[in-house]
Amino acid sequence: MDKTLIVTNDFPPRPGGIQAFLHSMALRLDPSRVVVYASTWKRGREGAEATAAFDAEQPFTVVRDRTTMLLPTARVTRRAVGLLREHGCRAVWFGAAAPLGLMAPALRRAGAERLVATTHGHEAGWAQLPAARQLLRRIGEGTDTLTYLGEYTRSRIAGALTPQAAARMVQLPPGVDEKTFHPGSGGAAVRARLGLTDRPVIVCVSRLVRRKGQDTLIEAMPRVLRAVPDAVLLIVGGGPYRADLEKLAASRGLTDSVRFTGPVEWEELPAHFGAGDVFAMPCRTRRGGLDVEGLGIVYLEASATGLPVVAGDSGGAPDAVLDGETGWVVPGGRPAETADRLVELLRDPALRERMGARGRGWVEEQWRWDLLAGKLRELLAPAG
Ligand code: GDP
Repeated sequence: MDKTLIVTNDFPPRPGGIQAFLHSMALRLDPSRVVVYASTWKRGREGAEATAAFDAEQPFTVVRDRTTMLLPTARVTRRAVGLLREHGCRAVWFGAAAPLGLMAPALRRAGAERLVATTHGHEAGWAQLPAARQLLRRIGEGTDTLTYLGEYTRSRIAGALTPQAAARMVQLPPGVDEKTFHPGSGGAAVRARLGLTDRPVIVCVSRLVRRKGQDTLIEAMPRVLRAVPDAVLLIVGGGPYRADLEKLAASRGLTDSVRFTGPVEWEELPAHFGAGDVFAMPCRTRRGGLDVEGLGIVYLEASATGLPVVAGDSGGAPDAVLDGETGWVVPGGRPAETADRLVELLRDPALRERMGARGRGWVEEQWRWDLLAGKLRELLAPAG
């Protein structure tokens, strides 16, 4: 049986979006055909113990390097080659293309027949920088396929590659669990708990950082309230920008109409999406293009929940919206435009219904994990 060696620094128990993506894929590749070579989560006994406890629960083999960061050194390359041979792997998946994808030629010489390297959001920003462009170009040359999240990241990364490597790129975004995120996911209970049962709710679920645009939503609220006086903005998530956002809301006299839940447990997440009538995150690009959205999985989670979305135009965020069908894309950082779309949606239940249903359908058609894992399995299957 053909096996795949997954080589990565981004694997749970280390938290994060890329880690969750790799783990979700590994579970769907057929665990008996997967061997993971990953770094240890954290230094010290606690990190090693948490890592070992996680690994013991997995249905596939996980081999940990003693370091907390794998780099494509001679030692790490020898170990990867050794694992490839020991487990009879014919395919290799680099969970994040750079820098470990530089080991591709050595693994090919050792017998790997398919080498796939996945890019996420940040590589699109890096692709502007000369050293990172060189790195991506070499990784594109050494592998069979570089995967990308969406059209925005593809166009940025392809510019750093040879035309041949660019032509071999394939889209592989993270999926959405349509059974976890669905209409009727428990939103009514969250609204009741927060005393919002009879009020129109705009919900935003995300880390609290400037790029995501919660500040734009707060700035949009006075204009929203002039049209829909009982509307509430529900800001879900935690992050370094929270204190500033709270100050901003207070300075505008919005303590009743802007609510913060703080970070919520994973089990509680679908119900928090469900607490909204509309989902909004008008994200914007910062730092000359380096701080940019890769995809915006939260729009898809909201669509799966049956909500219309208002998205910003940063990077790949629009790749997660069918503009005019599942919601609207607005220019990031523009409260007036954002408010106008929110008001349009809050005033029109039929439009919300239609866009929410189209979003749910789109997720079922294109963003289900099993479909995307099937795509990865095909990429990893040796020819013939
Ligand atoms: P990123 O953080 O910039 O990578 O943003 P993404 O759009 O990729 O979102 C990452 C994931 O984190 C999404 O699945 C969100 O639903 C999730 N998320 C955001 N805030 C919270 C939170 O407070 N709790 C939980 N459990 N998940 C959250």
